[in-house]
Amino acid sequence: YFERVLSLYLMSYAEDCWLLQVKDITQTDRLDSMRRDFVANVSHELRTPLTVLSGFVETLQEIEVDEDTRRHYLQLMGEQSQRMQSIVQDLLTLSSIESAPPPEDQLVDMASLVDKLRRDAEALSAGRHHIVLDSEGQGDLLGAESELVSALANLVANAVRYTPAGGTITLIWRISPEGAEFAVQDTGIGIDAKHIPRLTERFYRVDRGRSRDAGGTGLGLAIVKHALSRHQATLEVSSEPGKGSRFAACFPASRVRCE
Ligand code: ADP
Repeated sequence: YFERVLSLYLMSYAEDCWLLQVKDITQTDRLDSMRRDFVANVSHELRTPLTVLSGFVETLQEIEVDEDTRRHYLQLMGEQSQRMQSIVQDLLTLSSIESAPPPEDQLVDMASLVDKLRRDAEALSAGRHHIVLDSEGQGDLLGAESELVSALANLVANAVRYTPAGGTITLIWRISPEGAEFAVQDTGIGIDAKHIPRLTERFYRVDRGRSRDAGGTGLGLAIVKHALSRHQATLEVSSEPGKGSRFAACFPASRVRCE
């Protein structure tokens, strides 16, 4: 299987002499099509809440409604503008992770990072899940703290988002001179194997409606992937539909400083 995009240019430069120029433009062509898809996706994602918002504005301008209805509409309008804010915030995070040079490395104390993530999980869950911490080893990660927090917090937020109330979310932390791993394991809805290779694509969602209702933007795992790759770390996903998922960020020994 071999698929390339070639540009052919044939010209004559002297009597009976022809020059055929063959250029492999596969990469440019692929980038162009990715850029077009991305712009179309962003427009689509922003258009939906905008349409809802302008619908409510028109209704409120044209029709007399009672106080309860007016409040209800304003609440729905607030939710839509919050949604647009989340999309724009995630787009800005993604673009800064993709294009800005990485912030200077610092030593990030794992115990306090994981503790912060546990507090995030508890706040997002608001008592609906059992949050469990399972850690082994002590040490620091060498990296950009803001990027690490933003990547790992996305894994935590997803576990809360896709685990029904009563489920368990376990934050697993392992650190040794050979490497480090931070994993979030949940007992949530799980993911069918066929979706797993595409999860880190921008705006890819297994169930669009569920993600939107849960406040997802479809950009979280794209942010995770880019932030981790800036730390030579990888994302490993295993999941079983109806049983739960495990998302693990794996860091190489070069990123670890053990006490
Ligand atoms: P979203 O903002 O939609 O959560 P992400 O990029 O973070 O976007 O994740 C992409 C998709 O991967 C989600 O829409 C969801 O379908 C799936 N997903 C991510 N994490 C989990 C999880 N812990 N359990 C089940 N599905 C998940």
